[in-house]
Amino acid sequence: MSTTIPGSAPEAVLPTRIGLADGRIFRGALPPERHRAVHLGLLHADSEGYVEIAAGRRLPGAKLRITTRRDPGHFLPGGASGGDRWLDPLLALVGGHVARDDEVFVAPAVRHERGAGKAHVSHTRWLWIDVDGRDGLPAVHALLRRKPAQLVVESAGSGGVHCYWRLRRPLRADAIERAHERLIYALGYDLRDGRPVATVADAACKDRSRVMRLAGTINGKSGRCARIVSADLAHPGWALDKLLAGLPATPRPSIRCPAQTPLLHDDPYKRIAPAEYFRRLAGIEVPASGLVRCPSPAHEDTTPSCHVGRDASEGFCCHGCGIGGAIYDLASALEGGATGRWLRGDAFRRARERVRVTFDGA
Ligand SMILES: [Zn+2]
Repeated sequence: MSTTIPGSAPEAVLPTRIGLADGRIFRGALPPERHRAVHLGLLHADSEGYVEIAAGRRLPGAKLRITTRRDPGHFLPGGASGGDRWLDPLLALVGGHVARDDEVFVAPAVRHERGAGKAHVSHTRWLWIDVDGRDGLPAVHALLRRKPAQLVVESAGSGGVHCYWRLRRPLRADAIERAHERLIYALGYDLRDGRPVATVADAACKDRSRVMRLAGTINGKSGRCARIVSADLAHPGWALDKLLAGLPATPRPSIRCPAQTPLLHDDPYKRIAPAEYFRRLAGIEVPASGLVRCPSPAHEDTTPSCHVGRDASEGFCCHGCGIGGAIYDLASALEGGATGRWLRGDAFRRARERVRVTFDGA
């Protein structure tokens, strides 16, 4: 069933589904102004600090240029700072831009000062992702089945959506990017030259100071209006650890293991195979895969990322933290010491002594 607001022309309304605070569900179409009010109201009703509204325009054939980010007048008090009528000045500011055919954006994170930079962000009550285009939508829907989002906005560009997850408790500014990375890489990534590259969500959007297109405003790329696809006013929000639970760890750039030098010396310890010195020195049995948990106490390695070679000339190398080398390097790593070319002097002598005692006794 589709309902329209009496008095508004059908083309002036945008379909939406809103779970109301009392548990009922509204399915119908609302005018753009209502989409703006719901979007801003949901994100910032509890915000203590400033809400950034950003606006700009694109000249035909040109990229969008946002022009407001240095203007103190575009940072207005959120719901916990601005009194009962806090939303009115925000909607009036947005309405003025809409009347001038500007494109309009809102920052989901709260500012403690009237400024657009990272340093001005104090916290967020929402996490967000931006998926451009339709190709990523199956991955988005799969994620939303596991981790329902309390706000989904169709950005009206090339068919993509913005998803927002409400947090039960405010999240500190310096934890925002890391949390976003988990959601971004959960949607999909490739390794290119050993570096993870997000393939579904826009990785740049993880930034805490990011602004996102406001529902109920025109996207100049298409000439169509962004809209709230679904909003849930009743959900109390996610505990951060519940939201991120079960998502893959953020992939780290892989580290190329240095080639070991051939054995040209007479040191008998350096002829011992890595599997044997891992067993004797570290008590680690090396499986057929050659992958073990990193022996360094400084690296909490939950998935085995240390590669152990088959013979002494290959040595070992951790793809996670980069430690590696041969038998003395392992002896040093086990005490949290240096490895490779950084292992020298007294540290090297201690490592050699540990090897001697282990293999030949006191
Ligand atoms: Zn490691």
